[in-house]
Amino acid sequence: MSNTPQLSIVVPVYNEAANLEVLYSALIDVLENANRSYEVIFIDDGSSDETFQVVRSLHERNRHVRGFSFSRNFGHQVALYAGLAQAKGDIVISMDGDMQHPPSMIAQLLHKYEEGYDIVNTKRIDAESTGLFKRLSSRWYYGMLNALSDVPIEPAAADFRLMNRKAVDALNRLPETHRFTRGLVGWMGFKQAIVPYKAANRHAGASKYTFFKMLRFGLDGIVSFSVKPLRIAFYTGMLVSVAALMYAIYAIIQHFLGATVEGWTSILVSVLFIGGVTLLSLGVIGEYIARIFNEVRRRPMYFFKDKVE
Ligand code: UDP
Ligand code: MG
Repeated sequence: MSNTPQLSIVVPVYNEAANLEVLYSALIDVLENANRSYEVIFIDDGSSDETFQVVRSLHERNRHVRGFSFSRNFGHQVALYAGLAQAKGDIVISMDGDMQHPPSMIAQLLHKYEEGYDIVNTKRIDAESTGLFKRLSSRWYYGMLNALSDVPIEPAAADFRLMNRKAVDALNRLPETHRFTRGLVGWMGFKQAIVPYKAANRHAGASKYTFFKMLRFGLDGIVSFSVKPLRIAFYTGMLVSVAALMYAIYAIIQHFLGATVEGWTSILVSVLFIGGVTLLSLGVIGEYIARIFNEVRRRPMYFFKDKVE
């Protein structure tokens, strides 16, 4: 594409072949009415289904569609990062590829942008169909995250977001590989707005966020925005040491009073408790060290194996 488009849509997709046609026509409906030149960028995150073939056929039909295919599954946040790096528009909108982020909201995001915001975030209003587990775990998680982190993070924030060129360039300059985009965006500053949207049901297929992907994503959010878990480990260690010292004095006195036979329970409980606290603290430290390790290796975050432009 020679001249730069005004509006870029970035969509990370992982095994979404059954959703792309529907998403594409919904997007085209909106984009044709937006009176802006546009591009739609699909980042295929190492799909094992026909996702990239569908992207290719969309490109054949419409040269404003660009597609990039990862060499393997690198994860949603990395795909999002790669898409933002490819986007050329002055305005960039990122969204999911499963129709849960309604394309009809795009007009509203643009409207907010025209009011002068650099970043327009969205937050999900749960549909009745959202599972209880997802709703509760999300509420609980964001409560904990906000208690730990110095950057306020909106509960139920989504990676459905409009950013202007300034904001996209800023986000692209943050080099960390464990990306928790919604936190990074909150940290960046700029003039931000937030609009609620009603999450639709997934058009086809099931969520690509497995329990473990979600857990890893959640850990990234905490560990990259807070060192408080390390402090908590330290304070817990101090508390346990003080209690142990007091109990030791008591035990020694008991020894000299000649009253020391029983004690199976207290030994067992204290050994288990101290062992638990030690392992937990080591785990917390390990999480941070793992991240340092991953960052210092300076590996590229992803590889493309194919593209259509
Ligand atoms: N996704 C991805 N890589 C992954 C997992 C998900 O690119 O490893 C994409 C997925 O295709 C979708 C978006 O990220 O466009 C959000 O994923 P999903 O809808 O499965 O998550 P949920 O809405 O259930 O939180
Ligand atoms: Mg989804």
